[in-house]
Amino acid sequence: MAEKIDIALAGNPNCGKTTLFNELTGSNGYVGNWPGVTVEKKEAVWKKDSDILFTDLPGIYSLSPYSPEEVVSRDFIISGRPSAIIDLVDVTNIERNLYLTTQVLETGRPVVVGLNMCDLLGQRGEKIDAKRLSKMLGVPVVEVSALHSKNLDELVSTAVDSGRANKAAQGVKCFSPEVEDALGTIANAIAGSCAPELLRWYSIKVFERDSAAIKPLHLSEQQLAGMEKIISAIEVDRDDDSESIITFERYEWIATVMDACVVKAPGKLTRSERIDRVVTSRILGLPIFVALMIGVYWVALVAVGTPATDWVNDNLFSDGFFVSASGQAAFDEAHDAWQDAHYTDQISGYIAAAEEAGVDTDGVQDAIDADPKTPDDEATIAEFEEAARKAGVTAADVPITDPDGNFLDAGGNIITKLDADGNPILEAGQKLDVLPAVTEADFATAVDTPEPDQHDYDGFVDSIPSAVTGWLTEAGASDVVVSLVVDGIIGGVGSVLGFIPQIFVLFVMLCFLEDCGYMSRVAFVMDRVFRRFGLSGKSFIPMIVSSGCGVPGVLATKTIENERDRRMTAMLTTMIPCSAKLPIIALVMGVLVGTDNGAWWVAPMFYLMGIVAIIISAVMLKKTKRFAGEPVPFVMELPDYHMPSIKSWALHVWERVSAYVKKAGTIIFAAAVGIWALSNFGLAGWDGGNGSFGFLKGMDGVPETYMDYSILAGVGGALSFIFAPLGFGNWQATASTISALIAKENLVSTFGVLYGLGDVSEKSVSMWQGFASMFTIADTLHVGSMCAFVAFNMLCAPCFAAMGTIRKQMEDPKWFWFAIGYECGFGWVVGLIINQLHELFVFGNFGIWTVVAFVLLALMLFQLFRPAPTWDEGEEGALGSLAERSVA
Ligand code: GDP
Ligand code: MG
Repeated sequence: MAEKIDIALAGNPNCGKTTLFNELTGSNGYVGNWPGVTVEKKEAVWKKDSDILFTDLPGIYSLSPYSPEEVVSRDFIISGRPSAIIDLVDVTNIERNLYLTTQVLETGRPVVVGLNMCDLLGQRGEKIDAKRLSKMLGVPVVEVSALHSKNLDELVSTAVDSGRANKAAQGVKCFSPEVEDALGTIANAIAGSCAPELLRWYSIKVFERDSAAIKPLHLSEQQLAGMEKIISAIEVDRDDDSESIITFERYEWIATVMDACVVKAPGKLTRSERIDRVVTSRILGLPIFVALMIGVYWVALVAVGTPATDWVNDNLFSDGFFVSASGQAAFDEAHDAWQDAHYTDQISGYIAAAEEAGVDTDGVQDAIDADPKTPDDEATIAEFEEAARKAGVTAADVPITDPDGNFLDAGGNIITKLDADGNPILEAGQKLDVLPAVTEADFATAVDTPEPDQHDYDGFVDSIPSAVTGWLTEAGASDVVVSLVVDGIIGGVGSVLGFIPQIFVLFVMLCFLEDCGYMSRVAFVMDRVFRRFGLSGKSFIPMIVSSGCGVPGVLATKTIENERDRRMTAMLTTMIPCSAKLPIIALVMGVLVGTDNGAWWVAPMFYLMGIVAIIISAVMLKKTKRFAGEPVPFVMELPDYHMPSIKSWALHVWERVSAYVKKAGTIIFAAAVGIWALSNFGLAGWDGGNGSFGFLKGMDGVPETYMDYSILAGVGGALSFIFAPLGFGNWQATASTISALIAKENLVSTFGVLYGLGDVSEKSVSMWQGFASMFTIADTLHVGSMCAFVAFNMLCAPCFAAMGTIRKQMEDPKWFWFAIGYECGFGWVVGLIINQLHELFVFGNFGIWTVVAFVLLALMLFQLFRPAPTWDEGEEGALGSLAERSVA
């Protein structure tokens, strides 16, 4: 059969290459990175003929050697020798696109030019004379639309024919007579050193003094010196450097091509231009964007996304749910009735009263909670009832609690202050809501009235953990296995998967904004702001994505063409609070303002902290050698606004969500198992424990705070010295921080277990109290340490899934460790400064760490405000004497 043909797709960023590639290949190809750089490499075969292989080259504006994308593309074309090149040209930006085309034509390969987005021409009232253009370029030109699959077969078959015939493009004679003369002389001089079809390419590269490109020619010093003379003569004549002369003349030639082949619309603004007048205007651009984002987050967090995520978490992963409405109604009724009678409050209140009256209450609560009850339990309860009756116990006032365990006042409001024993503290005029006079008979009724069980009602679907526990227990699995599967694997992976609905909703909207062309405008608008801090406007999109989840956020950095900016953005973008960090914010709000919703300004402060941290980091890093350099000029085609095709939109959403899911299945899975083992195994060192090593929950007399005895506690204790200067050098805070590396919302649940509060939510007052007690020394809450703790957890390395993505995105382990090290170091320093300054100014505490904090603060300020040092451009420098350069 026919021989294999490999076709490279070249073109400017945003000209539609990816759309074309997906359309041609069905997008099932291999996606990797080019060796040594973080530039994406995509390869796949034509869906109609597997002998035709396509390579999607990175989007570039030129074949110069200034970015890794350009280097990768030209190396692939010059050394890789693809059978043919399809050069895709965006007809709505034809001038800039043809600039690349003139260079592609010089590479000595068969070339076919695809005029893409032809569907938009009519709308704009423009026309292109493709026949004439083809004549002027000397290669076939095909009008196509990648988005609407128009003429794509013709494009491919033309490219295949050219490739089979090996008809190399000749290049165009686009330069002035003097330059052409000089090129001719150079060509004669180097003719023996390269393949004939590359003669023009190399002549121009010699003229441009592109040392990297001409290295393979191995020209002698003498040859170079001779050519240097010709080049400098023209430079003196034109008063410009040779490279700029070439650029200028290419554009001049393109202008003549445009005159000959393109009929412009008569002076009328296109629809896109009219929209852009408003959307990218200096005054309205930012407000419009902010309003749109508020809308997007409102839908994702308030209207659809979070409710859906809560539903999944509550129903699939914790309580189960009803598929039958009548079953649900019946259960709700029974449950409401049970709850209205305050059965749990009656029981606990009565036991407490009995204890006060001197009745033996040992083990009664446990016996009541036991399910199923053994005869022993029944006996314990009966004995207690007998004793309580004899003592004539009646509980006078039993406080009423809500389902989160919070005490209520007479008006039904949550009481937000508790004393050290967990008893409510009343404000003046506030009255505790109580059950009056609980008698022995009330207690007996409460004990005999079990909480209704959902499983007993029609149409109930069990939650995954509960169902799996059931199966495993039935199959005779041991406690360790049940705990590993349910707490470790389902708990860890589930906490990540639970976020899918929220993330899906967010990305449906964000991908739409990207695909219809709006996000390029946002990048453009934000560029005005970000440029001042040395970041490109393109860094902003990954940050928006990261507010949903850091994994696709880091992946979104791929659209940043400049490698330096891309690495820096991948490093910093996870400092924006992602949705998993929201429970931590709720916890702090609870401690600080005593309610989880009244303080609307607290949450935005955390986003602000993230943005400020990114900007400070960017400014500081820009002044180091690794990241030095002016921000790359903002060149981004603004494609015409259009309705994205459902297919490419869906593909885009799928790309982001599936990246997230895949991580949950691999990295998170392993990490969850690891943390489970660390927190469930240890030495039984409690009162009545036998001191042996093993699975803690399976041992005799295990306390509710069993994690105190785990390996995690040991590791936390050993590492806690790191955080002592930040004010939270206890093992609980350290252990919580470690477990938060799996997924940030683990922080809250780990706390619950560590403080023996069980599975309480960030909305419960006792949880706030437990959290506050960690930062309380001698009855005083140290707000500085608490803020330091939060700052560290927000800014340090993200969860394992996001770290894995950074690892993949950075390509190089050195860069990955640099990123993680920077994030943790930065978080630590910020925490240290917050805590030490607070200690000094509020409590007057001064010590060695105060000095360290001041020194670090001074260093940061110095790095922030000193003028940017200039680095020697080194061997990457663009200009300089040719003779010096290429000999080496
Ligand atoms: P790449 O950067 O070259 O990979 O470009 P993409 O494939 O990401 O396309 C950039 C934008 O142009 C996307 O929003 C596409 O939907 C849009 N696009 C691509 N081809 C066409 C086309 O033929 N017509 C129209 N109207 N839009 C297109
Ligand atoms: Mg692309």
